[in-house]
Amino acid sequence: MSNFILEISYLIGAILFIVGLKKLSHPDSARQGNSIAAAGMILAIIATIFFHKDASGHGIGNLIWIFAALAVGTGIGYLMAKRVQMTAMPELVSVFNGLGGASAMTIASVEYFTNGSTAYGFLSVLFLSLVIGAISFTGSIVAYGKLAGKVKDISSNALTILNWILLAAIIILIIVAVFNPTILGGSGILWLLLLLSLVYGVLFVFPIGGADMPVVISLLNSLTGVAAAFAGFLYHNQVMMVGGVFVGSAGLILTILMCKAMNRSLLNVIIGSFGGGAVAGGGEKGEQVVKEIGITDAAILCGYASQVCIVPGYGLAVAQAQHICNDFEKQLESRGVEVFYAIHPVAGRMPGHMNVLLAEADVPYPKLVEMDDANDKLPNTDVVIVVGANDVVNPAAEDEPSSPIYGMPIIQAHNAKNIIVMKRSMSKGYAGIQNQLFFDPKTRMLFGDAKDSLGKLVSELKSM
Ligand code: NDP
Repeated sequence: MSNFILEISYLIGAILFIVGLKKLSHPDSARQGNSIAAAGMILAIIATIFFHKDASGHGIGNLIWIFAALAVGTGIGYLMAKRVQMTAMPELVSVFNGLGGASAMTIASVEYFTNGSTAYGFLSVLFLSLVIGAISFTGSIVAYGKLAGKVKDISSNALTILNWILLAAIIILIIVAVFNPTILGGSGILWLLLLLSLVYGVLFVFPIGGADMPVVISLLNSLTGVAAAFAGFLYHNQVMMVGGVFVGSAGLILTILMCKAMNRSLLNVIIGSFGGGAVAGGGEKGEQVVKEIGITDAAILCGYASQVCIVPGYGLAVAQAQHICNDFEKQLESRGVEVFYAIHPVAGRMPGHMNVLLAEADVPYPKLVEMDDANDKLPNTDVVIVVGANDVVNPAAEDEPSSPIYGMPIIQAHNAKNIIVMKRSMSKGYAGIQNQLFFDPKTRMLFGDAKDSLGKLVSELKSM
């Protein structure tokens, strides 16, 4: 009976994951999708704790320890999620992803010592779970450091070669370990593999820098899913396998999309260290002047335009200007101006960052125009307003082969008839390079915090 309840709970859990994942694909239903998938996970955990029985019919036991650990973990997770600033969300997601990898790594280590099976299939899955989990763990921690600006890109040919040697050593060791798990005496090979994988996780993310971070973040996400699926296989736990496969495949799809958004192949990102190795600071052309615009002139330019395009970027998230941006758009529309948002797939600091922010402010989804369609519209757009975006509108990606972002498709704001750029200073974007768009004769800079400037523009439009 217990087994029947367990199997049914896992089935319901897996169905809830599928429904949740489906709902996550649209901003309107994403919040609900998250709750549904979380309910599936809670069901799977509770069912496992109360209904799992071993071969001799004994339950899990150690319930006090399990619930104490659950309470501590839930408490820490809750507090971290509650307290995190919206702008630090990508860092938090990286840390949580790393902890998923660490869990798979720990499960594999525990199984190595307790299971005792020497079946090749079992050992292959065990070592793969250990290695992929460990790489994802330390890789995500370095990614966290990079997103938080605490870790700099380190890139050199020696590091690339070292990474290839490490990867080859890990693959060879896995094969050796599967056929002879005690070759180094006791558990020696397990510890060696663990150490090399942890080091590889750090070194493989170190050189990937600048604009390539979105690719590595989605890749790490995918790796954690794969490691969890393998760990589920070790326990014959279907719901864990299903969850892991979903995370792994969703992460892989996202990785492919991010590669497409950056116009790069995955191999090229991993071995090319795009951004990290290139000359940051490219795009500077000696002493150049920028033209500024005041609030009143900006309001007149937008208020009497027939079409305005808003290009949101990371600065929109920093300023938390999404709600006032929506008000600005509504003010323009009340004057008969057609407004649309041009969304770059890697704008912000996590995949879909701009979609999430604008959905939070109830901006209707059809107003968010994808990059290629937006670029078709921009030559006929009267005013493009760049709100805290920088790299994603940098023309160096199109016309400066020496630039670290060369080849990345951009929102071609420079093709619009007038350009207003809202930012606080002339400082550079994430890739660390100057932006020639700011010096374009059609561009005028509206310096200041985006929320503040948009608020003033709304007041000005109301009084016009
Ligand atoms: P950028 O990081 O290139 O530029 C953001 C700009 O916002 C800065 O130049 C900054 O200028 C401005 N800004 C910051 N705070 C404010 C504020 N309060 N008010 C107004 N402006 C502000 O952002 P983009 O979105 O253009 O590009 C994203 C970059 O991040 C890309 O290089 C991408 O590859 C990378 N990345 C993306 C990830 C993803 O998954 N999407 C993950 C990791 C990296 P100033 O300080 O002068 O105000």
